[in-house]
Amino acid sequence: MTAYAYPLLIKQILTAPLSHAPLQEIIHADVMRYDYRTFVDRVGRAAGALRALGMGEGNVVAVLDWDSNRYLECFFAVPMIGATLHTVNIRLSPEQILFTINHAEDDLILCHVEFLPMLSEIAARIERPWRLVILTDDGVFPASLPSEGEYEALLAGACPVSDFPDFDENIRATLFYTTGTTGDPKGVSYSQRQLVLHTMAVAAGLGPIPGGGLNRGDVYMPITPLFHVHGWGIPYVATLMGLKQVYPGRYDPAKLLGLISEHDVTFSHCVPTILSMLLTAPEAATTDLSRWKVIIGGSALPSGLAQQALDRGIDVHAAYGMSETCPFLTVADMMGTRDPNAPVSLRTATGKPAPMVQIRVVDAEMNDVPRDGVSTGEIVARAPWLTQSYLKNEAGTKALWHGGWLHTGDVGLFDNMGTLRITDRLKDVIKTGGEWVSSLELENLASDVDGILEVAAIGIPDPKWGERPLLVIAAVGDAAAIETKLRATFAHAVTSGALSKWAVPDQIEFVDCLPKTSVGKLDKKVLRTTFTYKKANKHG
Ligand code: AMP
Repeated sequence: MTAYAYPLLIKQILTAPLSHAPLQEIIHADVMRYDYRTFVDRVGRAAGALRALGMGEGNVVAVLDWDSNRYLECFFAVPMIGATLHTVNIRLSPEQILFTINHAEDDLILCHVEFLPMLSEIAARIERPWRLVILTDDGVFPASLPSEGEYEALLAGACPVSDFPDFDENIRATLFYTTGTTGDPKGVSYSQRQLVLHTMAVAAGLGPIPGGGLNRGDVYMPITPLFHVHGWGIPYVATLMGLKQVYPGRYDPAKLLGLISEHDVTFSHCVPTILSMLLTAPEAATTDLSRWKVIIGGSALPSGLAQQALDRGIDVHAAYGMSETCPFLTVADMMGTRDPNAPVSLRTATGKPAPMVQIRVVDAEMNDVPRDGVSTGEIVARAPWLTQSYLKNEAGTKALWHGGWLHTGDVGLFDNMGTLRITDRLKDVIKTGGEWVSSLELENLASDVDGILEVAAIGIPDPKWGERPLLVIAAVGDAAAIETKLRATFAHAVTSGALSKWAVPDQIEFVDCLPKTSVGKLDKKVLRTTFTYKKANKHG
């Protein structure tokens, strides 16, 4: 009669660290540091302050902040009072941010002082009544907008919540927006149950990785913004495991490298462009990175970058997922890398499905394509933590879940060992003379050439072939010499059968740096537009 059903709730993530790591530290750059007992106390105070502002079940609390201890506190306090945490992508344009605030129906906005000018610009067009709490690192803020006060002061004066109620585990916990190539940003949300299951699966998937993995001795620092799929969900995992955690505030290469040294950071995750930026920063030369494990996601890990990181002693490998998948789907199969001669391609492949994840590679009729290392198709997935729908977007939801499987929009293949490799994004595939060319394969080959810092392969319209591949490169050194080396690399790949003749780009363009999206990935949409326009004007 009295059995307890134990709903899977965010509050339960806090139980284990309090008992086995109460004195472990959580650090916000040079702003604040405290132990897990203080963290849990502050989460209770933040919850009390939120309740005093009228927040509870059904409300939406938005956060605009750099990666901070405050953000981590909100990861817990907001869902623990039954509200939804809207992690606002601060890199979007003011108009897009306004769209997301209105679409999410935010009731309370916690905004870092640096974003106040932008918020003031759009404030009059926020459609619902809303309240503002200011986030600062030093307590100083302008009175440009009416507010409920500053976060630290509210926490100090709050009546702390210590006994959090149970909720239905399917209650919405988090909400954020993903920006596609067209249309408005799409709202993606997760329940408390999904976040708890994702947390357990990441711990189970990354923990046992041979020779490293994520374990109790690690010091964690995210270098994926906390607004991007809750920092890929790893802050919840690090908290569950009671790890020492370092939140870097605003990203700056010198500062990030300094924090790695100062706090002996051993585990991070980021998109490839950020790792490349860190490795090429002047301070990298004098920073010991030999104890650092880095998971790369968000884009393919180019083999050149992987090798560069390995040369610095960094234990680097890929994982794969997307905003709609919480995000964890697969991780590089590191069993093979115990062999010192293991190829880098084991680390760069997206590997094997995470615990509880089902992955298929299918054709347009949803038939599985052969697992032969050659046949490609769309990657579709099932897992307990995939977003169930886009907010207020039935057509988008229907397409996402067509046939009862979540459609990733990625093209890939399984080899006969069951390793998944992504060859392209559906919208990025290059089709020349009716044949598909893998943009990732071209980028990978180019990334091995010395001097090439960033590379993107895109398809541009061609009257004869439909499309032709074009390479856009940012490099250091003599462009002509680099192009010669690159052409030799492609020629070798063609002779050895690794690349088809028609896949070799006719044109290679050098630029100072490549455009990036709001989450730091290469922006191929912008590149396609720029170079299609350039080509049209040249010929026309
Ligand atoms: P986002 O929703 O912004 O996180 O982007 C998700 C997309 O990033 C995926 O659908 C893939 O196209 C790409 N992606 C993520 N991880 C990888 C990876 N390891 N290799 C190749 N592409 C990846």
